Order: sequence, then C-alpha cells, then structure tokens
Amino acid sequence: MVKADGIEKNYGKLQVLNGIDMEVKAGEVVCLIGPSGSGKSTFLRCINHLEGIDGGRMWVDGKVMGYDIKGTRLHEQKDSEVCRNRTGIGMVFQHFNLFPHMSVLENLMEAPRLVLKQKRSVVRERALKLLDAVGLAEKAEAYPRQLSGGQQQRVAIARALCMEPKLMLFDEPTSALDPELVGEVLKVIKDLAQSGMTMVVVTHEMNFARDVADRVVFMADGQIVEQGPARDIITNPQHPRTKAFLASVL
Ligand code: ADP
Ligand code: MG
Repeated sequence: MVKADGIEKNYGKLQVLNGIDMEVKAGEVVCLIGPSGSGKSTFLRCINHLEGIDGGRMWVDGKVMGYDIKGTRLHEQKDSEVCRNRTGIGMVFQHFNLFPHMSVLENLMEAPRLVLKQKRSVVRERALKLLDAVGLAEKAEAYPRQLSGGQQQRVAIARALCMEPKLMLFDEPTSALDPELVGEVLKVIKDLAQSGMTMVVVTHEMNFARDVADRVVFMADGQIVEQGPARDIITNPQHPRTKAFLASVL
C-alpha cells in the first residue's frame, strides 16, 4: 500500500528526512514513534504528497505519489493525478481542523460531494452510518464548537472515512486532548485497525502502539533507527536511542 524509497526532505539547509525506506502492506497497522522534531509529521505529509520531496520516491497503492523534484522524473505525472491519488488517503491531525461553520453531518458530506461528486443521498447515508460507528449518531446536526475535543476528533476520523480511503494517516490524533478523552478516540482508531484498514499512526501512546500496531517504527533525526513487531520494539528495544526514548515516554 505504501512504499517509500530513500525519501529525503530539506527545509533550506535543514535536512529533515535523511533517506527513509519503509513499506506498509495492505491491512497493516504501523505506529511511527520518535522524539519531537525527528521528522514524523513531515514523513506523513510526504506520503500523501502534501510536501514535495527532495530525493527518493513514494508509491501509494502502486501509484507514484511523489518523486525527486530535482532529479530526473522517471515517471511523468501530472498534479491532477497526484490529487486524484490523494483522495484515497485519509488524514487526521492533532488539531481536528473541522469546518467550524458546518454541522457535523455537513463536515462529513463536504468532500465526497465536492471532490468525488457523489450523490447527496448516497453520501448522507454513508455519513450517518459512520457517525453511528464512532458513537456520534445523535450529534449529526451539532456544530463543532458544541462538541468536546474527543467528540470533535471522532468526527474528524468519520469525515476522513467518508471519502472511503484505502489508507489512513494519523498524526498524533490524541495529543491535543484532555487525558480523560484520549481513550474514546483510541478506541475508534483501534476498531478501525481491527476492521482491516491500512494505517500509519504517529503516536506517543505506547500502550496503544503495543496493542494495536503490527509494526513499530522508531525515527530519530530523520532516519529510521529501529523497527519491528510492536511488542519487540516497545518491550525489548535494542538501539540505545530507542531505549532512551521509551524510557522518557513510558
Ligand atoms: P515531528 O513530527 O517528528 O515532531 P516534524 O516533521 O514536524 O517532526 O519536524 C521535523 C523538523 O523539520 C523539525 O526540525 C521542524 O522544525 C522542521 N520543520 C517542519 N516543518 C517545517 C517547515 N514547514 N518549515 C521549516 N522547517 C520545518
Ligand atoms: Mg509531528
């Protein structure tokens, strides 16, 4: 589903990603962990080509998403194709980024209607089912400001799913929440993982990573330092940097 081959990304002189190779198979759940500033968010944005890359190549679902913008373009690709491929990738951010002037239901329906041009009745039915699945059926007509942070994040997840993505990317989905609201959001993500969705989740919730991820990838300074089965990495890390990081968050 995802193949990253030698991804490099610079901001000016700062090298943020320093040759990331990573594969995610269909149905796999990968948790990306690492210290702040290690390039986790940048890497997620490179997966769906919200960021151009300076080296390497990114495939999603067998299609080239991003390519080395300086090097030779082996695969000529129009921006419109990148946009079309991007519609198959859902992304959920730390700050839910709901449309404040739209009801919950309208938030879910907007992109499928506008981008995918799907029929109103079809989208509405799907949106209501998704709201039910995240436990918010009764909030369809509410506005984001009337919801708790945990509820808003569940709406954001349902909104991403309403595009029927093949891949979901989560960037610290619970980091902005009050501690008592973290569990309800993790449960929704866990249910989604168990439904077979392919996902990459950046998180500091190590219990979640241990229980839900098939694989954990530890990044530091723009490189993958260590990766493996979730239980191995979290309970028995090998690399000193992984050990130090886990000691600081557990
Ligand atoms: P993480 O998500 O692991 O905390 P980020 O990917 O957000 O790390 O950031 C990696 C590095 O890139 C940091 O040093 C950060 O300051 C820098 N960075 C991120 N986004 C930008 C940007 N748009 N412009 C300049 N520097 C950036
Ligand atoms: Mg980040």
